[in-house]
Amino acid sequence: FGALEAFDPEISGVLLSELDRLRAGLQLIASENFSSPEVLTALGSTLSNKYAEGYPGRRYYGGCSEVDKAETLAIERCKALFEADHANVQAHSGASANQAVYGAFLKPGEKILAMSLPHGGHLTHGTKVSFSGKWFDAVHYGVDRTTEDIDYDEVERLAKEHRPKVLLAGGSAIPRTIDFARFRAIADEVGAIFWVDAAHFIGLVAGRAIPSPVPFADVVSFTTHKVLRGPRSGAIVCRAEHAAAIDKAVFPMMQGGPQMHSVAAKAVNFKECATPEYAAYTRQVIANARVLATELGERGIRPTTGGTDTHLSLHDLQGVGVTGVDAEARCGAAGITLNKNAIPFDPQKPNIASGIRVGTPCVTTQGMGEDEMRTIAELIARAVVDGDADPEHAVSREVRGRVTELVERFPAYPRAGAARG
Ligand code: PLP
Repeated sequence: FGALEAFDPEISGVLLSELDRLRAGLQLIASENFSSPEVLTALGSTLSNKYAEGYPGRRYYGGCSEVDKAETLAIERCKALFEADHANVQAHSGASANQAVYGAFLKPGEKILAMSLPHGGHLTHGTKVSFSGKWFDAVHYGVDRTTEDIDYDEVERLAKEHRPKVLLAGGSAIPRTIDFARFRAIADEVGAIFWVDAAHFIGLVAGRAIPSPVPFADVVSFTTHKVLRGPRSGAIVCRAEHAAAIDKAVFPMMQGGPQMHSVAAKAVNFKECATPEYAAYTRQVIANARVLATELGERGIRPTTGGTDTHLSLHDLQGVGVTGVDAEARCGAAGITLNKNAIPFDPQKPNIASGIRVGTPCVTTQGMGEDEMRTIAELIARAVVDGDADPEHAVSREVRGRVTELVERFPAYPRAGAARG
């Protein structure tokens, strides 16, 4: 770090102040986590220098002997972790992995059936502002008004009516586990490819804390940086019959050279995820999310679907008369980072929103458990209901003080020798 500090104090200052920001507050963004120093070491390595278009043993560049070892390890570990026939570990991100799945199975103008964004889907699932909605014909299903969970009867009805080439399950704000068997049956009924975008919950699958989509889906795409706790990147696993199509779609159809430092970091991450410690972590992520959802609910901040089975919960703020945008700002002023989120059937515009999304991957990595979730729920409720977007407001100061006490007991990236708990 010393050399960077001497050469570029501005950027080295940003690296240090970002670390300070992570340590000083509570990070409750459901899609974030703190990857290990080992993953960060691989990410900051000279593998970043290497061009390696192609796949291990079949490259378009010389000098690939060492990166071939890294990619082979990443592929084998990924296949073993998810019990998958085939793995492609080259996608640069979740969106690039999804782009490759479109490339493998659909021609422009062909139809997909996916979860709508305002009900918990993702931009890349056919929204008009994304390549997916511009180049493909997307039909969307949503959640049931009463249960607020996926309306499987609607999925079936729309599948029969529109006969999509691809049926897609998964999204960014789905608190409940998904019935993959039901989706598979619907896909089979209409002859569709069944694709799961498991970006949010794949880490819980890796830890065997929730059921896996892999036995049911033709193809599963995911990010590697959420609960999974790896580098900021993506990957795809699929059935053997789709292996060649997926590999061709990632390279050369959608991407150029793979980022070999990131591929190596994925290999490290997959090894971490196969440990009993990681499995215990994923069970704690869910236990924490359940307590946080329930305790917020008891303070009038209602969890949609009545709770959660995963790492995240989505909360309706209409009962406390605060918008999502205000809640995000009030929490931010109090040292709590979370995001506003549309809730199903939201009367507000997406940039205002009636909800917040909270997730437990980061705080669980810090070692926090159910007791700390009770405290966090109390702090969120105090900031949201009584607080203010002004960091100098008395409530912002009061909550921030309690956040500081908490994170000092459970530091993110603890300094050498620091005790925890
Ligand atoms: N798919 C889902 C379900 C996601 O939640 C996300 C990111 O939040 C993505 C895809 C896109 O991932 P990335 O931001 O790495 O492109």
